[in-house]
Amino acid sequence: MIAKVIVDVPAKNVDFTFDYLIPERLAPIIQVGVRVIVPFGPRTIQGYVMEIVDEADPELDLNKLKEIKEIQDIKPELTPELVKLSEWYGKYHVTKRISILEAMLPSAIKAKYTKAFEIAEDELIPDDLLEKFDREGHYAYKAAQQNGDLDRLVPLMKDEAIREITLLSQNTRKKTQRAIRISSEHNPDDVLAMLEKHPKQYDVYAYLLDEQQRDVPLKEIDEVGLSPSSVKTLEKNGFVEKYDAIVERDPYASRVFEQEEKRQLTPGQQEAYDAIKKVIDEEKQETFLLHGVTGSGKTEVYLQTIEAVLQQDKQAMMLVPEIALTPQMVLRFKKRFGDEVAVLHSALSKGERYDEWQKIRDGRARVSVGARSSVFAPFTNLGMIIIDEEHEATYKQEDYPRYHAKDFALWRSEYHNCPLILGSATPSLETYARAEKGVYHLLSLPERVNNQPLPAINIVDMREELANGNRSMFSTSLREAIEERLARNEQIVLFLNQRGYSSFVLCRDCGHVPQCPNCDISLTYHKSSDQLKCHYCGYQETPPNKCPNCESVHIRQMGTGTQKVEELLNREFEEAKIIRMDADTTSRKGAHEKLLNDFGEGKGDILLGTQMIAKGLDFPNITLVGVLNADTMLNLPDFRASERTFQLLTQVSGRAGRHEKEGEVIIQTYNPDHYAIQDVQLNDYLSFYHKEMKYRQIGKYPPYYFLINFTISHVNMKEVMQAANHVHQILLQHLTDKALVLGPSPAALARINREYRFQILVKYKSEPELHKALQYLDDYYHEKYLKDKLSLKIDINPYMMM
Ligand code: ADP
Ligand code: ZN
Ligand code: ZN
Repeated sequence: MIAKVIVDVPAKNVDFTFDYLIPERLAPIIQVGVRVIVPFGPRTIQGYVMEIVDEADPELDLNKLKEIKEIQDIKPELTPELVKLSEWYGKYHVTKRISILEAMLPSAIKAKYTKAFEIAEDELIPDDLLEKFDREGHYAYKAAQQNGDLDRLVPLMKDEAIREITLLSQNTRKKTQRAIRISSEHNPDDVLAMLEKHPKQYDVYAYLLDEQQRDVPLKEIDEVGLSPSSVKTLEKNGFVEKYDAIVERDPYASRVFEQEEKRQLTPGQQEAYDAIKKVIDEEKQETFLLHGVTGSGKTEVYLQTIEAVLQQDKQAMMLVPEIALTPQMVLRFKKRFGDEVAVLHSALSKGERYDEWQKIRDGRARVSVGARSSVFAPFTNLGMIIIDEEHEATYKQEDYPRYHAKDFALWRSEYHNCPLILGSATPSLETYARAEKGVYHLLSLPERVNNQPLPAINIVDMREELANGNRSMFSTSLREAIEERLARNEQIVLFLNQRGYSSFVLCRDCGHVPQCPNCDISLTYHKSSDQLKCHYCGYQETPPNKCPNCESVHIRQMGTGTQKVEELLNREFEEAKIIRMDADTTSRKGAHEKLLNDFGEGKGDILLGTQMIAKGLDFPNITLVGVLNADTMLNLPDFRASERTFQLLTQVSGRAGRHEKEGEVIIQTYNPDHYAIQDVQLNDYLSFYHKEMKYRQIGKYPPYYFLINFTISHVNMKEVMQAANHVHQILLQHLTDKALVLGPSPAALARINREYRFQILVKYKSEPELHKALQYLDDYYHEKYLKDKLSLKIDINPYMMM
């Protein structure tokens, strides 16, 4: 038997499978999707089994075929479906297959680890084998292979006498904490009798006796109001003992969830539900767009359709943007589906993520809720895929391997013949256009549940404020509205669009702004560390006291980062308690959650933040949302600038008045007449959609045209220009005259990390030779990169145009 193996060498010239002989001892065990160690040239390296066939490629000399040395998994980490998916994607998106395979796997797998057998039922294991397990009851795969025991062990695994365990290295290993329990040396009744005269010790002991089935963390003694000093005495007398307990990594693991009843659907929800349910029952692929304003009950529709899927013994996968994956959201799913929910997001440690992945792989979890990469969850019988907030750019992975989760989701829904649901209050133009054409099935929820009114939205023209002599960043009406809310003890959310508006340092005399020496970009001032930093390459320096250009001392911090606004707020509204949420205050794990909790508990009057507060916030006491600078995104050199502005402002506005109290939104702008801003005020998605579609048509942008963005970069400007011309030539040779090739021209960010950057943008509708050109360019520049670091980045359907 022959295994076709993709080897772990990220080079183009090995991006196809190699044939390896499967040695007899591995033949009954090996499966598609397992990782193997194979000889490759002078080395031995890791590979992935993509296919198992009887005969080798007839062109190969059988005598020269090498053997697989060892296998690393017994249970494959990759399902046959994911193996196929990697093949399809690599082919059509000029991406090395090995990179896709690696992107699919949880990162713990790539970290240092050993896989081993673990004893489950020792009576079922023959003695001579049992001897080979270590004291912890483990027997490493590697050793088992070397000893030739694999063929006896694998059947035992099927009989559940042993199971697989992954022993992870230090940083992924289980966390422990000090815990306390009663000592088994004494009879509890005797101890209690003895302690009767020492009520404090008695209480501690009685408490631990009651809680014997679980680990009681040492700190809990204090927390429940018992006496920590009695613990010492009890320990000294040998009645209790301390030990290291494993901390459950699943933060919800030991919790019992109050089951939440499903709600009676509104007529609109029912209609959506019925349409989706029909497709679930018919077991066919169909893509739905669920277009519903925030609070219209989309999530409730997801929950109930998932339930229908589970009833048919299938599985459901839901993608949400990372920042929307809040504890509130997770809880809602756990309350419906309990332990059947696996949560996959980047705030989990590698080990935690691997736990969740295994839960899915082993069939213990049938529902997943996760961010972008959870689209690779190893389900084998999917009944539905949901992408919530489908318009979000975070579904596009910008680092290599570049991919859009939607492409994978669509492929998987076709593979499983199940519905794909795209949900949004502000669908991307591409998606809505497809729904309009009937390619997607459009479902609309135009009203909030219970017909709750949407908040009133007021637009303030900041040019007028300036003309009236108000130079502050708060307009008169926003200031009054804030004061009013503070007086009524209601909460306020202030949104600062951070992008392109962070604070920098400016010389008031000559206008000099310190730049990054490696990139063409101003340095950003960080107050907490008193440093100027480059957001692109990480360069930092201490801010100058004197202008390096004119020696003036009038050089200082300008602009309006969140820190600056916080200071202003503190000055203007002295009594207000402010919670600031931005990249700086949320960098620590759990900080995001804590700040939101604090705000939810009323520990702050004003929540000031960037993009990250636009979602998921759902607190009854928020009655005012202020947008300090609506324009910053409008002015970015990106054809999606208006769309993003509309989406973001709509989202932020949705934070106000979600409950009984009426909400108000104030948007400050220098472009009050812009359609993106006016349509937010009117809450009219369709009006915005139609206007924006006209611009896209005139500008030849998606959804009318497809785009590919080529970025060529190198430290030497001349080389970049030469290569850019070469790429341009190749494209012209392969494309018809219906395609538009723009450039080469310097990128909007013309230099990053010392490298000059040129771009070529291709707009096209259908180009039969395009794929060939891409493949050729990718191969050619891969070699070039290995030789002299000249890089060509091919971004198909780009989201970042800079
Ligand atoms: P969306 O996902 O569109 O923002 P949700 O599903 O979160 O909307 O619903 C908004 C609120 O309305 C939630 O508090 C939810 O519990 C509630 N809700 C949703 N559907 C119903 C219903 N049919 N009956 C009563 N309350 C509902
Ligand atoms: Zn100066
Ligand atoms: Zn830089």
